[in-house]
Amino acid sequence: MSNSTKYVFVTGGVTSSLGKGIISASLAKLLQARGYSTTIQKLDPYINIDPGTLNPYEHGECFVTDDGAETDLDLGHYERFLNVPTSQANNVTTGRIYQSVIEKERKGEYLGKTVQIIPHITDEIKERIQILGKTGQFDIVITEIGGTVGDIESLPFVEAVRQMMWEFENDCIVIHLTLIPYLSAAGELKTKPTQHSVKQLLELGVQPDILCCRTEHELDLTIRKKIAKFCNVSMNAVIESRDADTIYDVPLLMQAEELDKVALEKLGLPSKKSPELSKWKEFLTKLKNPTKEVSIGLVGKYVELKDSYKSISEAFIHAGSANECRVNVKWIHSELLTKENLENELSGLDGILVAPGFGSRGISGKIEAVRYARENKIPFFGICLGMQCAVIEFARHVLGYEDAHTTEIAEDSKYPVISMMEEQKTISNMGGTMRLGAYKCQLKPNSKVSIAYNTETISERHRHRYEFNNDYLEAFEKAGMVATGKNPETGLVEVVEIPGHPWFVGAQFHPEYKSTVDNPHPLFVAFVKAAIENKK
Ligand code: GLN
Repeated sequence: MSNSTKYVFVTGGVTSSLGKGIISASLAKLLQARGYSTTIQKLDPYINIDPGTLNPYEHGECFVTDDGAETDLDLGHYERFLNVPTSQANNVTTGRIYQSVIEKERKGEYLGKTVQIIPHITDEIKERIQILGKTGQFDIVITEIGGTVGDIESLPFVEAVRQMMWEFENDCIVIHLTLIPYLSAAGELKTKPTQHSVKQLLELGVQPDILCCRTEHELDLTIRKKIAKFCNVSMNAVIESRDADTIYDVPLLMQAEELDKVALEKLGLPSKKSPELSKWKEFLTKLKNPTKEVSIGLVGKYVELKDSYKSISEAFIHAGSANECRVNVKWIHSELLTKENLENELSGLDGILVAPGFGSRGISGKIEAVRYARENKIPFFGICLGMQCAVIEFARHVLGYEDAHTTEIAEDSKYPVISMMEEQKTISNMGGTMRLGAYKCQLKPNSKVSIAYNTETISERHRHRYEFNNDYLEAFEKAGMVATGKNPETGLVEVVEIPGHPWFVGAQFHPEYKSTVDNPHPLFVAFVKAAIENKK
């Protein structure tokens, strides 16, 4: 069977955390830079319908797309590398597959058949893989299979790959990412784990076409020959993937290893032009040659696991490069921040960001951090819960509304300055009850935000249940906290600012999700710039 879209599957072996997401994104970048329209999809083998209900300690940040899908954080990498938005179709979990098969079974769609993993679950997986291809928008779809080959839970995904390799034999390839460990006692790189991992794939009926080998040392010719020979791949399909200084180096490292060329060859596609990466290289040059430096405090309750704030820390990297400035992020645990240690923890920072979050843990530390930034005129950026904390802090300490709060934490607060919209109050199911995805926002002329964006109409992504309570807006504006961004349809407050402060911005939306290498987010760029000014 022939197909106009080509499919690249990326599997992982030996161990987790080898960076399948970055390898997939890097290959996609190179193919895109050669003129192929490319997208990346992640198949996650867990039973959750989506990561929306997962604690960030489990799986890192939950990334949100324009169409409101709560997804794996790898989709953030895909967008940051490709500068093309992803959607619900780009992330599929086992839970979602089973959910739709079971729904079909209840509707009688299987016509009395016994519903089984093969063919029903695998057919559903194959359908999900092809959804993006069938849109006709993409020449190449890269599908990353989460987990490690050999895991029980990823078996149906590998089986779906095997079937697709058979059905679309000229249109599919498999790249297997593996580890070549270095044994210092022996002074040698070892290929055996890779051989075993490929053997395991072979037992499942899948022969990889390309091996990407994570290694801390150079793979010399002898090692490459050995890997090729034992794993049935051609010599040029043994790709060395060395540890890099930054993830943004990886596309160039993969280009040097000709991963893109080999992949195109195996897919039967012409290499077209050599990759156009001038913007990417300019970004890297500025990133690696900063002319200044700032320290920014990131106040959050999940700081032990930095992946919980992945998009924020990447947005700082993009904004740092745009400002030719090294941004040192100081991770500050909101739960440990008290009135007593505030000065110690926060003095000397050039900017303070209060992070998004849910629930009461660490909230008082976040409110204290806002107060410190406001009173000491340190550039401040509050995102989602961070913005809500800024509103609560202003209510308590400027408006004198003692115990003002969000109804998320204090349901019967006398001053519910952040509260839930009426229509949301009846929803009890936790998954997908939030305001999710992209909404328009109208900005006030001459505000900090409209200056940063250089426009007055924007669209940004949301992930929250609670909102600024408009009953209090007049009082806030009179006292000096102004709503400079509003949803044009509902009038909901999306941005607050304090005009008398050097740079104090709270955003109900999540700007970090839209920052990419090609388009560093304007609010992060402006915040870093304000931090640079503040340092002077
Ligand atoms: N917990 C808050 C809400 O639901 C903020 C959410 C967030 O920071 N993403 O409104």
